[in-house]
Amino acid sequence: MSNVETEQTESYCGTPADGERSVRVPHVDVLAPRDVPLGGPRAMKVRRTLPQRGRTLIGAWCFADHYGPDDVAVTGGMDVAPHPHTGLQTVSWLFSGEIEHRDSLGSHALVRPGELNLMTGGYGISHSEVSTAHTTLLHGVQLWVALPEQHRYAERDFQHYVPGPVRIAGAEVRVFLGSFAGDVSPVATFTPLLGAEIVLEPRAAVTFTVDPGFEHGLLVDHGPVRMADTLLRPAELGYTDPGNDTLTLTNESDDSARTVLLGGTPFGEQIVMWWNFIGRNHEEIVRAREDWQNASQRFGTVEGYDGDRLPAPVLPNAVIAPRGNPPRH
Ligand code: MN
Repeated sequence: MSNVETEQTESYCGTPADGERSVRVPHVDVLAPRDVPLGGPRAMKVRRTLPQRGRTLIGAWCFADHYGPDDVAVTGGMDVAPHPHTGLQTVSWLFSGEIEHRDSLGSHALVRPGELNLMTGGYGISHSEVSTAHTTLLHGVQLWVALPEQHRYAERDFQHYVPGPVRIAGAEVRVFLGSFAGDVSPVATFTPLLGAEIVLEPRAAVTFTVDPGFEHGLLVDHGPVRMADTLLRPAELGYTDPGNDTLTLTNESDDSARTVLLGGTPFGEQIVMWWNFIGRNHEEIVRAREDWQNASQRFGTVEGYDGDRLPAPVLPNAVIAPRGNPPRH
């Protein structure tokens, strides 16, 4: 997708001279969400903005699902049976509700609002995610991080971190990965990454310093919010190329606005994503699927989930081609 606004914003190509630096307005692509049923008998719906045809990755961020606020009494909440992952990390970040996480490392954790839960799949892991009985409204994001070639088979791991809120004029920020707004997450990443929740006060405009080597994605939960000159509606993901020193976010509503800012250095590797697997070629995906279907030790076993594990879907007939990102502007 490209910018849907009729009035295109001005953007400079190449390196601006010093005097022009302050007038450079980042170009923003608007990535629209599509509704995807999560699967399982109750099929809670999520709004997916990554991956999509126009963009595979933002830094190493390769998957972005946004859901809720769902009234669990109506939707049945989240009930994702044990399923495998390879070649990636999962990030759960909630705005409200509570999810019980179990994985084949033996981790058993409650995912709560404002708390990072980061699972590193490495060569293979499996997990289940179920909203708890305490949950009335379920609302949050599920994100994946692609592991770079040299760390694709990193040791599987589960980490929990609660960032303190950073209060600045017009905004409150929680930095769960990377460095932003004067705060640094202690959680290590395999590529340079940023993940932060930003809540903007009504009508506030805040200019943040950003890493010019990073590309950024702004997912709007509650808004609308203007990213540089481009208005983003709730559930849309705004994208900016590397090359920006600052990023101005403006809450265009009389309510507080909530966003999640993702960033990272361009990933630079082509990947194959299919179902819950990330590989580098079709054969790796075929092998991962076989290993899951054959209950190989690669993905281990999730203890304590009430029900069967998720079977892998049928592979497409065609060979799945690796994907990268479209060329820069
Ligand atoms: Mn998962």
